[in-house]
Amino acid sequence: MNHIHLKKISLKATILALFLIIATIISFVFGWQLFYTNKHLSKDSINSHIGSIVQNIDNTLKNNEALHFGIINILGGINQNKKEHWDENFSTYIEILKARSSIYAIYTGYEDNSFYEIINLDIDANLRASYHADLQDKWLLIKIDGQNIAQRELSFFDSQLRLTAKKLEPNSYESSQRTWYQMALSGENAIKTLPYKFSHIDTSGITFSKRLENSKNVVSIDVLIEDFRNSLKNLIDTDSLELFLFKQDGTLISSVAENEALFKQFYDKENIDKFLEAQILPIHGKNYIVQIAPLQNGANEEYLALFGDYDKIIAPYNQTTFRLLAIFALTYLLMLPIILYFSRIIVKPIFELVGESNKIKERKYNTISKVESNIIEVSVLSDAFLDMSQSIYEYQNSLEEKVEERTQELKLKNEELYKISVTDKLTGIYNRVKLDKSLQENMKLSLSQGSRFAVIIMDIDFFKKINDNFGHQVGDDVLQECAQILTHTVSDKGIIGRWGGEEFLVICPETDLTNAQQLALQINQAIKAHPFSTYPHRVTMSVGVSGYQAGIEKYDEIVSNADKALYKAKENGRDRVEVN
Ligand code: GH3
Ligand code: MG
Ligand code: MG
Repeated sequence: MNHIHLKKISLKATILALFLIIATIISFVFGWQLFYTNKHLSKDSINSHIGSIVQNIDNTLKNNEALHFGIINILGGINQNKKEHWDENFSTYIEILKARSSIYAIYTGYEDNSFYEIINLDIDANLRASYHADLQDKWLLIKIDGQNIAQRELSFFDSQLRLTAKKLEPNSYESSQRTWYQMALSGENAIKTLPYKFSHIDTSGITFSKRLENSKNVVSIDVLIEDFRNSLKNLIDTDSLELFLFKQDGTLISSVAENEALFKQFYDKENIDKFLEAQILPIHGKNYIVQIAPLQNGANEEYLALFGDYDKIIAPYNQTTFRLLAIFALTYLLMLPIILYFSRIIVKPIFELVGESNKIKERKYNTISKVESNIIEVSVLSDAFLDMSQSIYEYQNSLEEKVEERTQELKLKNEELYKISVTDKLTGIYNRVKLDKSLQENMKLSLSQGSRFAVIIMDIDFFKKINDNFGHQVGDDVLQECAQILTHTVSDKGIIGRWGGEEFLVICPETDLTNAQQLALQINQAIKAHPFSTYPHRVTMSVGVSGYQAGIEKYDEIVSNADKALYKAKENGRDRVEVN
């Protein structure tokens, strides 16, 4: 049998490996899918976030802008074209400043470079220090006279609008040179500047201005950027999100951000369209989900950029994923003993079947028993195995019986064949084949052990006449009866056979010539005395006797010597015994 050496692996290990491979593939695909989905979910979250923020900011900014444009239009409507009107409206301005904490100052720039301004000192802590005002001072009135622009007059008022101090300061401020002034002069409608850093305080803001009717005088309010920022702040979770409000050219209007530099690193005019959909953007080794949304803020092209901390936003999704994967892993672990149990259910009967099959090899058919299993296939296999071993058993038994029978028959046939091969057909005594073989055996014995043996050869006298006178059949009968008499006479003293024609031969083992001669005489007498059944006359035989003696090497010589004796008997008148 050819043994092919394959690496062997147990069924249990195969099942386990299969299970683990499937589990790993499922976990991998599932996990990968989940993490992939998480990325999308976090992008979607920014998308929906920015959607609602845009809506809110849009409204807030619109409201803010509407409010401040409203205020500037009211101010524009108040009769204040002449400088004297300023003092008349002083208390109205105070009321407006009191009502809106986002408005830092109200002021008017006149055509002649005169400039009147009222500032809310509570707006910024630095203000009092920079103007050398007292704590009790609440309002600051600044007046610059166009005729004497080199100096300005500062008047401080307490909350009761009582004048607390008045002083003169050198001045370099020229209202006619300011952006707000020039912008307002260019049209009929109120305008809004871009955000810029206010003087005296560390805050940026926007100026809303309007040209007073039929003049080149401009009334303005300064609105702190803080105001937008506060309203934006309420809209987002500042922990994970940063918000930038900017113009298309990259000017930052406002932000709710810990790190404003982020915007500068990100901004690229060409890329605005790309970020209309949420994108993951690495900045300085940190990932942000960034999305830009345009604000529907009148004719102004303003945009909102929302920066989400990718890791923070994705964290809860990933946490859920890890939990799911952990549940997966736990489920696999719980399934392991079940799989081991089931593989045992399969493996155990297979090993039992192997054990039973070994019994066939050992021919212990009686001890082969059915292997019980709850698994249909294994049970069917076990039944088939039992049937097979039963049929092998029966087949083998019947085969052995048949072989025994056939062997017996063959033995008989062989015996028969042997008998035929050594028997003379006519007389039923041994034939020449057997006689030759026996002569050979005796010769061999004599040569090796020196034992004697004798040969008696006989020839029926005038047999031709029997044939001639009574027919061949009678000749045959005579031959048969002669054989019977010879057999009877020789008995156990030798082996009698037909030598050929009407000649017979007797081989007498362990017999000397004297005894052989005696037997020869007995034979001669017996034939002579026998009344043949179909032949009316007496039959005689001439007999020649010879035996083994030292120097003879081949049995042919002994037969030849006996033949010579027989010839002598014929010569000497037949019906006699001669020894040579
Ligand atoms: P002798 O006394 O000299 O032996 O004379 P004989 O006639 O016996 O000798 P011969 O050898 O001349 O004759 C033998 C005869 O035996 C010749 C043959 O036809 C006959 N014979 C040989 N075998 C058989 C046989 O099987 N049946 C019959 N019926 N005759 C046989
Ligand atoms: Mg003869
Ligand atoms: Mg004869």
